[in-house]
Amino acid sequence: MFKLKELPYETNALEPVISKELLELHYGKHHATYTKNFNIAIEEYGLEDKSLDEIFAHISDYPKEVENHGGGYFNHQFFWESMAPVGSDDTRMGERMVELINKSFGSFENLQKEFEKQAVSLFGSGWVWLVENPNLNLLEIHQSFNQESPRMDFMIERNGDVNPLLNLDVWEHAYYPDYQNRRAEFVEKFWQIVNWRKAEERLLKNAE
Ligand code: MN
Repeated sequence: MFKLKELPYETNALEPVISKELLELHYGKHHATYTKNFNIAIEEYGLEDKSLDEIFAHISDYPKEVENHGGGYFNHQFFWESMAPVGSDDTRMGERMVELINKSFGSFENLQKEFEKQAVSLFGSGWVWLVENPNLNLLEIHQSFNQESPRMDFMIERNGDVNPLLNLDVWEHAYYPDYQNRRAEFVEKFWQIVNWRKAEERLLKNAE
């Protein structure tokens, strides 16, 4: 049984970037529904004893609904934990992350430009991810469609064995109530609420 974890902050904590109403809808309806349907699917297909990692590592072997609901369950939980209130300590970038970003993209501005480009150009519904490539010790930016997730077997084949650090939901439901069709504006404002402390905590490779 996979549980809908509590949000790590109050539902108004991400204002003015994400309104209380939008967060309540996104978490309380969309994420809750993915969680509910994921649990129904794993019961139906006898996957109750498996961990999420195990399920994702063999996701291609299961019916598509396991991917859709399992990805929706995990991607949203990861997303809530990737954000923090505007101006909070968690939004400050540590030295290690600054160095890694400079090494990977040349500058934070370049990272932003590339991330925003991928977020805005993603056709339809999906996610944008900042990931660590532990083999190269570099950061990369990837897209995923619908509820695909970087640790799923076919995603590892597509993009390599990478470790996700941050994600951004660019499904319309993630921004429409606050921004209508202005996805680019939502993406631009996302930087104010990125939890860089969490992103750094998620790094696999120790600083050299
Ligand atoms: Mn969503």
